[in-house]
Amino acid sequence: MCEMADEALSRIPDDQLFYQRKIRRRAKQAVDADKKRTESLKKQRQEQQICNQCRLPMVVRTNSKTKQKFWGCSNFPRCRSTKSYE
Ligand SMILES: [Zn+2]
Repeated sequence: MCEMADEALSRIPDDQLFYQRKIRRRAKQAVDADKKRTESLKKQRQEQQICNQCRLPMVVRTNSKTKQKFWGCSNFPRCRSTKSYE
């Protein structure tokens, strides 16, 4: 695929500029996506809950019956501590 692109560039020099812009735009998109990922990670950390009983991080679980989310201790089933998600 890269070989084909190189060939097209050598044949049509005017296209080179367009191609370079395309690459730059794609690079910017990659940076933006990376930024978004970092932000969502930060948000996750902010929302991290610690169990009151054993001080281990809690994980989001979903009630299989009500489909409601809640925080459950990662030490489950040894620790059954939970917190409401909201
Ligand atoms: Zn716990």
